[in-house]
Amino acid sequence: MIKTLNIPFTYKELDSPEELNPDDRELLFSAREVALKAYAPYSGFMVGAAVRLSSGKIILGTNVENAAFPSGICAERNALSNASSNHPEDKPVAMAVAAMTNAGLSANTVSPCGNCRQVIAEEEFRNGANIRIILSGRNKIQIIDKGGDLLPLQFNSDNLKFSPH
Ligand SMILES: [Zn+2]
Repeated sequence: MIKTLNIPFTYKELDSPEELNPDDRELLFSAREVALKAYAPYSGFMVGAAVRLSSGKIILGTNVENAAFPSGICAERNALSNASSNHPEDKPVAMAVAAMTNAGLSANTVSPCGNCRQVIAEEEFRNGANIRIILSGRNKIQIIDKGGDLLPLQFNSDNLKFSPH
């Protein structure tokens, strides 16, 4: 018998940063600001990520491209790796992501890629704490309360424990 299942997904959408709470607004502006420091000579697509740790500290990351394209890395994973390496006891609780080109901030929000979604989900699993994702667009902002919700039926450590029988 074939069953059709449904995984609900909800997120919030805001028109302006003024509608964010002060902490999230600071995080959003940090992501926008650090995007200017991205190394993106090939795509011209500059991304900034700002991770809020439970202590309140903000850890930043940008995308860093490479002439050998697959060697480049995204802003989100750079920021999370930096947080994990330098503040292993301080859990990430939120992350803002902003993208821009020479023409300015992206009009629409830019979502984490599949690789980054996988890493966000692992961080949540590892820390037992949700990471609120705040996506910056010039004309709208989206909030996803749990980053792992961006990756339904995600691969996780339970998949490594499968029994063949
Ligand atoms: Zn990514």
